[in-house]
Amino acid sequence: MRQKGKSADFSTITMRYARKTRGARLGQHFLTGQWAARALARAAEVRAGETILEIGPGKGALTKELLATGNKVVAVEKDEVLVGQLEDAFAHETTSGALTLVSQDIRNFDVASSNLIAGTYVVAANIPYYITGEIVRTFLTAKKQPRAMALLVQKEVAERIIARDGKESILSLSVKAYGAPKIVAKVSRGNFSPPPSVDSAILLIENISRTFFVDVDESVFFKIVRAGFASKRKFLVSNLCVFGKENVSRAFAACGISEKARAEDVPLEKWKLLALKLGVRS
Ligand code: SAM
Repeated sequence: MRQKGKSADFSTITMRYARKTRGARLGQHFLTGQWAARALARAAEVRAGETILEIGPGKGALTKELLATGNKVVAVEKDEVLVGQLEDAFAHETTSGALTLVSQDIRNFDVASSNLIAGTYVVAANIPYYITGEIVRTFLTAKKQPRAMALLVQKEVAERIIARDGKESILSLSVKAYGAPKIVAKVSRGNFSPPPSVDSAILLIENISRTFFVDVDESVFFKIVRAGFASKRKFLVSNLCVFGKENVSRAFAACGISEKARAEDVPLEKWKLLALKLGVRS
C-alpha cells in the first residue's frame, strides 16, 4: 500500500501525525465514550442492503453500533488476540451471518477480489492513526470504491482535509477529487483508553466516485498539483514554470488565476482547468 508517485498524495498524514500516537501498540486507542461510536455509526447513514466494512474493530465498541443499523458488517482486525475475543463476544452475530470477522492486516485486504460491490458499501473505522493515509488512499482510489467513508481521525488531519482555514493542500485536493469531506463531530482524547496525545474528529467522505476524472487525466492532474505545491513560499506561477513560462502565463489568464496566487489559494475546479489548459502529458 505504499504511496506511488503518479497518483493522489495522502502520505503527509502519516508523516506529520504518526509520531504523536507512538506508544499504543497498533494504534490501539479503544473507544470508551459509546456516544462517539454511535455518532460515527450514524454519520455513515448506511442504506438498506449496503455492507459496512469496519477496519480495526478492536474490542467491538463501534462494531456493536454498526450491527445495530441492521446491515451486514465485515470487520478486519490485525491483532489475533482481539479477533479471538471478538469471536466470543459476537458469537451470535457471526453465526447468523450479520458479522464476518477477518483476521488480517487491512493493508493485505484485497478489495478487488472481495465480495464488496462498488458504490454499495461503506467504510467505517476508528482508524489506527499510523495507517490513516494508506487507508484513505486505498479506498478512495480503489476500482471498487465505497459509497462513503466515516472515519475517526486526528482532528488536525480532518481539518486539513476539509481545508478548514480556507487553505488547500495536496492532501485536501487529493481527497476532494474523489469525494466530499466534512467534519461531523469532534471527539476529545478523554473518550479513548489509553487516551492519545491529540483530539480526534469524525470525518465523513461522501459521494465517492471518479467522475472528477472523466475529462482530466488522473496522473496529469496530480503531477500538476504536486508541482504547484513544490515550494510553499513561491507563487504558484513560479512553481509551475517547469511546464514553460509562457504556457503557464497563458493558462493562468484562461483560467482566471492571479499570477500572485499561491497553490493553497487555488480551489479544486481551477486545478482541473489548469491541468486541461496546460496541455501536460502523463
Ligand atoms: N474500533 C475499536 C474502537 O473504536 O474501540 C478499536 C480502534 S483502535 C484505534 C484501532 C484498531 O485497529 C485496533 O484494534 C488495532 O488492533 C487495529 N489495527 C491496527 N493496525 C491494523 C491493521 N493494519 N489492520 C487491521 N487492524 C489494525
